[in-house]
Amino acid sequence: MGTPLMEIINAAGGVREGRRLKAVIPGGTSTPILTAVEAQGAKMDFDSMRGLGTFLGAGGVIVLDDTADMVEVLYIIERFLAHESCGQCTPCREGSGWVTRILARLARGEGYAPDIDNAVRIGDNVTGTPICALGETIGPVAKAIIAKFRPEFEARVKKKIVAAPSPGVEVGAGKLPSGVRV
Ligand code: SF4
Repeated sequence: MGTPLMEIINAAGGVREGRRLKAVIPGGTSTPILTAVEAQGAKMDFDSMRGLGTFLGAGGVIVLDDTADMVEVLYIIERFLAHESCGQCTPCREGSGWVTRILARLARGEGYAPDIDNAVRIGDNVTGTPICALGETIGPVAKAIIAKFRPEFEARVKKKIVAAPSPGVEVGAGKLPSGVRV
């Protein structure tokens, strides 16, 4: 407790040779992400993590180098949460699926500009409503990754975007990759 985060990362071998640190998820997939700059001054204790808008979680440090695709990273996290949702709470069950479908569409390069804010908005609407911690993860994780790496999401949209969907179009109507259950 209190060990500098970079000391832990370096003790584990550090970032791969020739690569640079891009981001760190400090406590497993339920914890909001830190940028490389934030990670430099972080300590693994409650106050330091809280000051950076995240928390220790399960303590499973995930280190991402500059090859990480942040759209893909968020998609994988939200897909996991959707898969693990037991379905008891409607906001968690439905919200995790909607956010995952939006991110799947973005990851495939078929996203619309409003998808980015819709993923955050839906996540925000889930926050405070579920009865367990899994559902409370859906919003903050999406919000942090999109806020800190938004240009990557925007670049993904620009490659394909033709026009924004009309009002009333079902959010997350995109087809999921085969094998993904939500
Ligand atoms: S918040 Fe927890 S209890 Fe509710 S649906 Fe999600 S996983 Fe199940």
